[in-house]
Amino acid sequence: MQALRALPSVDRLLSSGPGADLVDTHGRQAATEALRAALDAARAAVRGGAPAPDAAAICAAAAERLSADAASALRPVLNLTGTILHTNLGRALLAEAAIAAATDAMRHPAALEYDLATGSRGERDDHIAPLICELTGAEAATVVNNNAAAVLITLNTLAEGREAIVSRGELVEIGGAFRIPDIMARAGVRLVEVGTTNRTHPRDYRDAVTPATGLMMKVHPSNYRIEGFTRSVAAPELAAIAAAAGVPLMNDLGSGTLIDMTRWGLPAEPTVRQSVAEGADMVTFSGDKLLGGPQAGFIVGRAHLIARINRNPLKRALRLDKIRLAAIEATLRLYRDPDRLADRLPTLRMLTRPQADIAAQAARLAPAMARLLPGYRVAVIDCASQIGSGALPVETLPSAGLAISGDSGDAPERLAERLRAARTPVIGRIRDGALILDLRALEDDGALLAALA
Ligand SMILES: *Cc1c(COP(=O)(O)O)cnc(C)c1O
Repeated sequence: MQALRALPSVDRLLSSGPGADLVDTHGRQAATEALRAALDAARAAVRGGAPAPDAAAICAAAAERLSADAASALRPVLNLTGTILHTNLGRALLAEAAIAAATDAMRHPAALEYDLATGSRGERDDHIAPLICELTGAEAATVVNNNAAAVLITLNTLAEGREAIVSRGELVEIGGAFRIPDIMARAGVRLVEVGTTNRTHPRDYRDAVTPATGLMMKVHPSNYRIEGFTRSVAAPELAAIAAAAGVPLMNDLGSGTLIDMTRWGLPAEPTVRQSVAEGADMVTFSGDKLLGGPQAGFIVGRAHLIARINRNPLKRALRLDKIRLAAIEATLRLYRDPDRLADRLPTLRMLTRPQADIAAQAARLAPAMARLLPGYRVAVIDCASQIGSGALPVETLPSAGLAISGDSGDAPERLAERLRAARTPVIGRIRDGALILDLRALEDDGALLAALA
């Protein structure tokens, strides 16, 4: 076929001007593969009756392939979903101090397991355990990969081959694969459910105690609420029951916070300090939920129990690297100065943004957005943000944003798809036939305009 023979060879493409540019930018191997793929596509098109594209067109097709490939799958996005701690979008953003500390740790050797005073081997947790104890009032602390890991290793250490007593009202699933019964099975612990979904009494726990009981567990029902005719046993009372039975009480807080959120007018979430003071022997919580740090799972409580966790071989499998330890330490230090925390910790800064601020931002952005999206109506609306990640599930925060809908009844899904395809993908949510962009998490107007420009 004449037209097929008219197509250039890969070698000729590589030595052409645009081909050489591709080699420069992406390397010879990637450029060669992309040109070969573009040539294959051209051959198929020609066989289908299309005219043969010239060298420049084939190079352009290869360039498109390469740049699509080069865009990181983990590239930044704008989270305008209204859910601040969005698990699918990576939860908490780190404070600048934490970013700087992590960057330093990446670039330089660090005294991770090295005692600078004596020159001998140290423990990696020693850097942050005292700080965690100071902030929570606990005797001892350790930290692992995430809170799921914290729950797993705590159950396994305290009750492997034994029974754990949990209320039926607290057998939570935290999205995806994290379900208390499953984690318990993997930890080698037999689950003993007591009470009913809505009501569990002190005697339910007492009656379930046997010689095989290894621990009692309380789980903060982070992402749901049971209302109406309900009864649960509060932690102080359960701590007394566990103590009488001679077994430890573990309290999985999920998010938990290091500081009372109501001081910023936010809904109350249990603080770790309070849970420790209520007599839980072990408390577990997340690093990247309300705490606002990197992914991590904290375990705080009695020193002899923490020592057993540190001796569990699972600890080695679940431990943190120096980068995250550095980020955690820097994040925790910010909590020593609560007055400035809401400025420095992005999660808290976003959660505490006054609605009037967000509404003013929406009014400012609406005309520019309407210009960037011809054929769409852009309206300023009131909306409600969620904290997310299961923290404070029922309460919402009054917020504001933009409702964007097509002039000609265009499906909002199409616009959502288009915004997801932007250079910086913009993620909103669809409601009542419009795409809603909640601006609570948009700290810089320019970021949205640039993403869509
Ligand atoms: C979120 C949550 C977990 C899991 O924490 P990760 O840090 O996501 O691993 C466990 N328990 C409860 C109650 C939670 O809310």
